[in-house]
Amino acid sequence: MSVRLDTPIQYLKGVGPKLGDTLRKRGISTIGDLLHWYPKGYEDQRAARSIASLQPGQFVSLKAKIKGVRQMNMGRSHRKMYDVVLMDGTGVITCKYFRSPYRGYFDQFKDFDTVRVSGKVSDYRGRIQFSHPSIEIIDENEPEQNRLIPLYTETEGLRPAKVKQLVAKALELALNEEEYLKTQVPPKNADFKIANQPVYLDPLPEWMKKKYQLIGLAEALKGVHQPAIERADEFIEFRSSAHRRLIFDEFFQLELQLALKRSGMQKAAGPSMQPKENLVNACVGGLGFKLTQAQNRAFKEIKTDMLKPHPMHRMVQGDVGCGKTMVALMSASFAIENGYQVALMVPTEILAEQHFKSAKNLLQPLGVRVEFLSGAQKASEKSLVLEKIESGSCDLIVGTHALIQEKVFYKNLGLVIIDEQHRFGVEQRRKLKGKGCDPHFLVMTATPIPRTLAMTVYGDLDVTIIDELPKGRKPILTRVTSESKRDKVYGFMRDQIKNGRQAYVVFPLVEESEKIELKNATDEYEGLKAKYPDIRFGLLHGKMRVDEKDQIMNQFRQRELDVLVATTVIEVGVDVPNANMMIVEHSERFGLSQLHQLRGRVGRGEHKSYCVLVLGYAVSEESRERAMVMEQTGDGFKVAEADLELRGPGEFLGARQSGLPGFRLANIVRDAQILSLARNAAFELVNKDPQLTQIQHIALKVWRENHQGSLIG
Ligand code: ADP
Ligand code: MG
Repeated sequence: MSVRLDTPIQYLKGVGPKLGDTLRKRGISTIGDLLHWYPKGYEDQRAARSIASLQPGQFVSLKAKIKGVRQMNMGRSHRKMYDVVLMDGTGVITCKYFRSPYRGYFDQFKDFDTVRVSGKVSDYRGRIQFSHPSIEIIDENEPEQNRLIPLYTETEGLRPAKVKQLVAKALELALNEEEYLKTQVPPKNADFKIANQPVYLDPLPEWMKKKYQLIGLAEALKGVHQPAIERADEFIEFRSSAHRRLIFDEFFQLELQLALKRSGMQKAAGPSMQPKENLVNACVGGLGFKLTQAQNRAFKEIKTDMLKPHPMHRMVQGDVGCGKTMVALMSASFAIENGYQVALMVPTEILAEQHFKSAKNLLQPLGVRVEFLSGAQKASEKSLVLEKIESGSCDLIVGTHALIQEKVFYKNLGLVIIDEQHRFGVEQRRKLKGKGCDPHFLVMTATPIPRTLAMTVYGDLDVTIIDELPKGRKPILTRVTSESKRDKVYGFMRDQIKNGRQAYVVFPLVEESEKIELKNATDEYEGLKAKYPDIRFGLLHGKMRVDEKDQIMNQFRQRELDVLVATTVIEVGVDVPNANMMIVEHSERFGLSQLHQLRGRVGRGEHKSYCVLVLGYAVSEESRERAMVMEQTGDGFKVAEADLELRGPGEFLGARQSGLPGFRLANIVRDAQILSLARNAAFELVNKDPQLTQIQHIALKVWRENHQGSLIG
């Protein structure tokens, strides 16, 4: 019988209709899917394991003796905790239980019983322990095992033992088939029918496997499912050559798409522009400061792109306060002098308002017609602006999401700039792009994005990095503190205000919620007002009306308010140089990149600036350590790396980002190096063979066309 990886799963011996249904519900409908149902880890049952050799994070199973069982009462509740202490010749380890697995579980253990314990080793305050392992009494003379057991995700109706069995059968079939294929004569021409191609051929061409030192696909699949005990550590740590190959494939699949997209973009016709820089020069001339070298370099890169016949796709990354807005306005001026319209989109009303003001102040006197568009505008105002956009009687349109709504028609959109890109989803970026013929496209990120993420989510963009802050900026002094020091913190704030400065106090919530133990902006605003009557407080949060927000922001800008009590609506972009103190309450509730953004609201003027992170009561040690990163570095790139490592890519990007694919094995933090290789390989391939028409790349083409979300067919 001939089997292909796209053979339906029920053709596998031992899969009846019921099991077939269960498997399909898990997304396993073919033999190929089953082989790509990778173990999530391995249980280490190597012989001669000893307690002394255990490391946190390992899944292990070992033979030991019961040293004792302890029972403890937990606080005032009637709940009990149990410790089972085990020993072997090399050491002692405690197994922690916060509940009994079943009634009488602990009664079965007598001191000096021989047991086999299996579970994950964890680290508790520098000492290793097991939590909720399984313990089984065994015969003292039972021989030691020497195995590495793949662990499959347990799902209902699908026992891991069954998965293992099925996988073994599927592997056997697939490997036989591959042997058979090796005897076949490869096709000679490119007319070769894709539809008749077996799906299980290793899609990667030989040159690539050789250059990037990758093993064959079949071998890799066999490896992860049936790991070699001699290389146990490599499997356990996901760095076996089998893992390396499969992880490469996951990244490669993504990077190949990006590379093809890029090569497609390089063919499209973009707006045509000439090196006219009168407006740019006039705009820069009107500033009270000199541009930094990095700002000049960034603009130069952008200009070079805009002079090319194809649309620019560029991302500007730079730390908070490096002056990205100016780079945006210079780019806008360049396009406008070339006769095009420019759309500048930002994520919040407050920021849109602010950018609108700066753009108007700077560019209107030079004859640029600047307009504002937002969802919160009155209908009459809006329709007036829409008309101007359509008739071409405005040059620069600053606004929020409203800029990409269907009823906005641009006369001749030449450049789209998206500020604070991380707040927008990939989808929105595409929508705005579709508004012009094929405009130049520039995104600016508020928070630096770690290189690995930039290579995945933003992998189709060129990157400009602004790595310099304007002269004279002093580092911001950051301190992590706790609730008990609040009075001291606010006392310090009052001193700053007496000296003429202003401050922000940020809370995670607006109103009282179920999580009553958290402070919220509204209540605390009232409380602070009562406690410090000599200070003028203002309240700002996302649920306020736009005109209310505007009014408060203006009062704060004009120093009619000393302190802005706010939620994260001020997170991005807000620029009030006289404010020099940022207090973040319940800072454990914020991601590091978000804290870095918040901190970036201060340190914008000539005054020494401060950022105080106040941790709530009863925060974990981990939260405290996380916050300490902020004390240790002011460098946004370092903060971003730490944030990515701590929270993982999904959280880092936030729910708004839909662009990150779900990897099964690959982890962009752990496997950054493989990612980078996969990217090189993909771009190299597309460079060599943009349409993938060479015979050696046919299998890849099949692979690409067959995979829809999953790696194989
Ligand atoms: P971000 O990169 O965070 O968007 P902004 O563009 O808001 O930063 O700039 C931060 C502040 O620095 C603004 O007040 C801006 O006017 C000022 N600024 C920008 N470029 C320079 C420069 N070259 N020298 C001095 N100040 C600058
Ligand atoms: Mg900005």
